[in-house]
Amino acid sequence: MRTQQVIIGGGPVATNALETIREFDDGESQIVLICDEPAHSRMALPYWLSGRVPREHTHTADDAYYHNLNIDARIGQKVTGINPNANKVTLDDGDTVEFDNLLIATGAAPVGLKVTGTDLPGVQPLWTIAHTQSLLDATNGIATPRVALIGAGFIGFIMLNAMYKLGWRLTVIERETHVLPRMLDIDSAGLVQSWLDARGIQVHTNASVQAINNGDGGVKVVELMNGVRIDADVVIVATGIKPNLDLIQGSGIEMDEGILVNNRMQTNFPNIYAGGDIAQGPVLFNDQPTIHPIQPTAVDHGRVAGANMAGQEVRYPGSLLMNILDVCGLQNSSFGNWEDSDAEAMTISNPDGFIYRKLLWTGDEISGAIFVGQANDMGMLTDVGMIKGIMQTRTPLGPWKNFLSENPFDIRRPYVASKVAEKLVGTTLLGRPAKSRQFRFSGVEPTTTVSPAHDVFFSTKKS
Ligand SMILES: Cc1cc2nc3c(=O)[nH]c(=O)nc-3n(C[C@H](O)[C@H](O)[C@H](O)COP(=O)(O)OP(=O)(O)OC[C@H]3O[C@@H](n4cnc5c(N)ncnc54)[C@H](O)[C@@H]3O)c2cc1C
Repeated sequence: MRTQQVIIGGGPVATNALETIREFDDGESQIVLICDEPAHSRMALPYWLSGRVPREHTHTADDAYYHNLNIDARIGQKVTGINPNANKVTLDDGDTVEFDNLLIATGAAPVGLKVTGTDLPGVQPLWTIAHTQSLLDATNGIATPRVALIGAGFIGFIMLNAMYKLGWRLTVIERETHVLPRMLDIDSAGLVQSWLDARGIQVHTNASVQAINNGDGGVKVVELMNGVRIDADVVIVATGIKPNLDLIQGSGIEMDEGILVNNRMQTNFPNIYAGGDIAQGPVLFNDQPTIHPIQPTAVDHGRVAGANMAGQEVRYPGSLLMNILDVCGLQNSSFGNWEDSDAEAMTISNPDGFIYRKLLWTGDEISGAIFVGQANDMGMLTDVGMIKGIMQTRTPLGPWKNFLSENPFDIRRPYVASKVAEKLVGTTLLGRPAKSRQFRFSGVEPTTTVSPAHDVFFSTKKS
């Protein structure tokens, strides 16, 4: 009998899992994919918003793709119940689907804001294809829309960057003391704030929203507790996300903040797997299972779950927390335990040059890092990659720790001397190098446009 593999979701966990199953099963198993949205990459939504790519390029699968991989894709359908003891799921049309293995890859959703006015037209979150479309519709015909962004977190700022590229007039409201509170410390966030100030983007920190009201002519008025009023054509509520756990309640699948998974992505039911934004699993530099709601973790989880569903024994070493973000031309990144106040810190900062670097040490191992710098700072960009490699391979740096305290900009020497590149080349999740997916929506090749921000890297070749 063919193994029945059922996957709920259509994001990176789901697509990577089904491709990995097919890689190992010679087409033998029956795969059913159920997703209430078309399969797509949320990461690509800002590129569509800013007009860099057409909407189709956010999609990560189409009918031909499902046909080639022999997937029974039920797009537009929602799973409304999971019965782990009977090994079946129930769909919104009342149909049931049985499984031998189940992967729950249903992601997360915006938490929203509990104040009056969030239900007004023109007030919305920005997380899905539908949200992106409604923002484009709401701003259509307005030359330079005014947008109030409530919440200065990672996702909100990714979208802020897209709106900045469009020349929109932007105001940011953040409840905490500084922007990007779950990505940067207060000093590095200060650089981001002055960078935004210099670009005419108003930032209100320590600012809570009291209400959102209708003003004259369809304008929205965001009222802050401190009495400030902000007029906007559109208000984006980006106050964080939470895993979509409603479906799991009462099923017997163990959860904490997310669904608890082991290093094979299994839940407490060995034939039920979970991954991505909904999963709380193994991470580097922390013994406690944690949710890392980022694309690289989702991709890894999908591959590990898919391999194990196909009968392999693949174990995940744990994901590295990483946030890499372009804020209107200023590059920011943080890794691992970047806010560990017990760790030994080495910090260098040049606020005038918008440079900030912080390395956090546990013994002679880098367990956290923060980098801020400008896009044309080639050193910064390569150093970020090398720090990520050092952390991913968990390489102890021995005497190079002292060297870095005296030469904080020279990461290349410890990186090369500690053979980090060699270790990275030998590290694979599935025992082979990663492969390109080769997926093109409707067979259309992407049109490549190089952003002017990258011109500097090619300038010598051009002249
Ligand atoms: C605008 C935006 C930009 C981002 N940019 C970055 C970035 O630059 N870097 C980065 O690392 N991360 C980024 N992320 C985060 C990243 O996209 C997520 O971590 C990733 O999508 C998680 O993948 P997933 O497969 O777990 O869930 P998702 O991609 O959310 O997919 C889950 C799917 O399951 C569907 N679903 C949910 N419940 C059900 C149900 N009951 N029945 C059927 N289907 C269901 C959902 O509708 C959804 O389509 C971004 C996110 C957003 C919103």
